[in-house]
Amino acid sequence: MQYRNYGSISGEKISALGFGCMRLPEVEADGKWRVDEEKSTPLLRRAKELGVNYFDTGYYYCHHNSESAVGKAVKPFRSDVLLSTKIPMGELKEAGDYRRWLERSLRELDTDYVDFYHFWSLDKTTFDDKVIGFKLLDEARKAKEEGLIRHISFSFHDDAQAIRHIIDRGEIFETMLVQYNLLDRSNEEMIAYASAKGLGVAAMGPVGGGRLAAPTELYSRLTGKGSLPTYELALRFVLGNPHINCALSGMQDLAMLEKNIRVGSDETPLNAAEWQQIGDALEKLRRFSDLYCTGCAYCQPCPAGIDIPKIFSAYTYHNVYELHNHAAQMFAEYTKKGGNTLKSCKNCGFCERKCPQHLSIRQELARVESALEKLGVPA
Ligand code: SF4
Ligand code: SF4
Repeated sequence: MQYRNYGSISGEKISALGFGCMRLPEVEADGKWRVDEEKSTPLLRRAKELGVNYFDTGYYYCHHNSESAVGKAVKPFRSDVLLSTKIPMGELKEAGDYRRWLERSLRELDTDYVDFYHFWSLDKTTFDDKVIGFKLLDEARKAKEEGLIRHISFSFHDDAQAIRHIIDRGEIFETMLVQYNLLDRSNEEMIAYASAKGLGVAAMGPVGGGRLAAPTELYSRLTGKGSLPTYELALRFVLGNPHINCALSGMQDLAMLEKNIRVGSDETPLNAAEWQQIGDALEKLRRFSDLYCTGCAYCQPCPAGIDIPKIFSAYTYHNVYELHNHAAQMFAEYTKKGGNTLKSCKNCGFCERKCPQHLSIRQELARVESALEKLGVPA
């Protein structure tokens, strides 16, 4: 495994590949979900054996069970790994909630300290109203002095320029976690800014919410050279950015872990010339980004039962990868199994309020469903 300085402020060395613990294997019984620890514990421990030292979890992940599953798995080697979790800003109503949420995470993780405690999913308004308004930086500073957290961090979902505002006003931030991948480079300039200020930077969604995990000819289309699996190209591209210290991947099985470990262990995931060339070529394929859905599912559950991430994902196969038959099949199967579409929409607006990508979901559903219907049902 390759290790990088996690910025210059934190003083930590982080593995180039981090374990995003939002998609651990789960099982459902009587409508209740739990993490399948018979699978997740060996997977997380194998990741540690293979050199991963950064495990990122959060309250909402895996039906609120991720923190406790991760805590149990890393317990035997707790001091050898870096644990990251997050305070859910939407739930926070007053300054005292900071400590309450932190203590909850410590209990769930069964640990005395969190290595990187993030203000979760900040945008400018939340930062101004809550982090500054409730004086939460003082709360964070106090928790750090008491040894309950080792580093103060934030994750981010807003227009890129808000990052500058947050970093400059935040002062004490040591690392940030942002969306970054081949299809969404909007944070690139601010990633360089954060890095120049000494912050460590971890990237989430390096394979674009799964979109770049599909087999395509993208590498040869971009480079005119032989083939490279698209997921690997995507991971190499993220780690080829010298300002990114770690790419988080939500690995669900051993095969996926081992594939990613190979990339994370490569000294030079992409050299500077390759990285530039691929980035430039990609600019020409801007239409890839005409619908940027990460598959995060924050827009779910839709009260009308519309599986928005699934419909958008089918469209991506059509529009981005030109896998038209696959896209048509996916959409046809969805509707055949009774999956609802825009015509069932109750116009409650929940999805659009929740979408971190600020998509005009209803408008996009109309456009996307019409495009998918025109593809017809493959024979
Ligand atoms: S606006 Fe429509 S699509 Fe969005 S959550 Fe409400 S019912 Fe579902
Ligand atoms: S919340 Fe937005 S980005 Fe996330 S799955 Fe729904 S539409 Fe896609």
